[in-house]
Amino acid sequence: MTATRFSGRVAVITGGASGIGAALARRLHGEGAQVLIADLNEAQGQALAGELGERARFQATDVASQASVEALVATAVRTWGRLDMLFNNAGVGNLSRIEALAPADWQRVMAINLDGVFFGIRAALPVMQAQGGGAIVNTASASGLAADFGFAAYNAAKAAVINLTRTAALDNAARGIRVNAVCPGPVDTPILAGVSALRGDWEARVPMQRFARPEEIAAVMAFLASDEASYLTGAAIPVDGGLTAHTGQPN
Ligand code: NAD
Repeated sequence: MTATRFSGRVAVITGGASGIGAALARRLHGEGAQVLIADLNEAQGQALAGELGERARFQATDVASQASVEALVATAVRTWGRLDMLFNNAGVGNLSRIEALAPADWQRVMAINLDGVFFGIRAALPVMQAQGGGAIVNTASASGLAADFGFAAYNAAKAAVINLTRTAALDNAARGIRVNAVCPGPVDTPILAGVSALRGDWEARVPMQRFARPEEIAAVMAFLASDEASYLTGAAIPVDGGLTAHTGQPN
């Protein structure tokens, strides 16, 4: 096989069965990586791993469970002997005004979108420290840099992911482990199904006047995990068509 950017590299992608994670799995696999797809959605995850074939596997995973995430990292190491890239990407949305937000829903969003990232970083660090390097990319959101109306738990979790990313980056910078976050604006994936009525207005507010394709986010995530980003750590990169560059002033 021709050597490519990720030949011989091992990647774990949570939320890898759908949307951004699936686009990333395709991209990394296409560039030579061994890819372990992790998701709650077994049918879609198995189907994607089957489609990719050699060098792809699926493991049913609930990122809200520390044991499940530890088992995931252990599978990558058992199967391929190392872990070069971890993408903490699984997430769920939740549109609810604070006064109507059930504490159980708040906790579920935090468990998946924030605890899941913590469990992933925590499980990967000893492996990456022992092998002398690695890259972690967390999927935060433009909603972690600014805030969306009514998405209290989501906004809070994504902002926390950004500062968790920075802390993990600081603590591991001298060990060859880079930790970054990507902050997408609206992306055309199933997570936005519940707010599809807002799409026209939403697109009009994005300076680029459209939602992203999942592949456009995956391209930046792959870059962040690649050797081309060798001096890049602790960053939260907006990939949002200019959304968070805008004050809201009408044009
Ligand atoms: P998606 O719904 O297509 O994919 C999310 C995946 O995460 C699904 O396959 C789902 O089954 C999985 N998942 C949910 N809970 C899980 C759990 N507990 N354990 C394991 N897997 C779980 O949506 P997407 O847009 O591809 O979302 C990927 C990430 O991007 C999320 O973190 C999301 O918050 C973030 N994001 C999305 C957008 C957007 O507009 N689509 C914008 C900013 C950030």
